[in-house]
Amino acid sequence: FLPRLMAALEQVDQTYIMVKPDGVQRGLEHYKDLKQKPFFPAMIDYITSGPVVSMAWEGIGVVPSARKLIGATDPLQAEPGTIRGDLAVQRGRNVIHGSDSPENGQREIALWFKEGELCEWTPVQEPWLIE
Ligand code: UDP
Ligand code: MG
Repeated sequence: FLPRLMAALEQVDQTYIMVKPDGVQRGLEHYKDLKQKPFFPAMIDYITSGPVVSMAWEGIGVVPSARKLIGATDPLQAEPGTIRGDLAVQRGRNVIHGSDSPENGQREIALWFKEGELCEWTPVQEPWLIE
């Protein structure tokens, strides 16, 4: 049981990280799950207001790790030391996006990157980070 649990914990996932506001006239299916929310139109205006920096991160537990680094959706609730906690004020201007599950990580990466746009590389310090 324990080795299986450890293996599950060490699963290498992918997450899509985006420095907002985006824009990027590439179709905004990204937030389709939020379409019914009252803040949707304002959020789409914001997210299409300028270029974004898109990233695909991969690693063990990368989805919750990245979300921890990003902080709560509402910057007023986000802990100091998180990106939103330190750099943002309002929910509607919260600086950065991170996928909320490995499944959405894969889906969003596929949405924002074309085949061949992702590069895989191994940092030299990897053996000192991962046993
Ligand atoms: N948002 C907003 N008002 C709200 C809730 C969300 O403007 O009341 C925006 C905000 O930019 C947020 C995005 O919609 O980051 C997506 O909402 P979600 O609940 O998925 O938050 P996240 O996963 O980004 O923390
Ligand atoms: Mg979300």
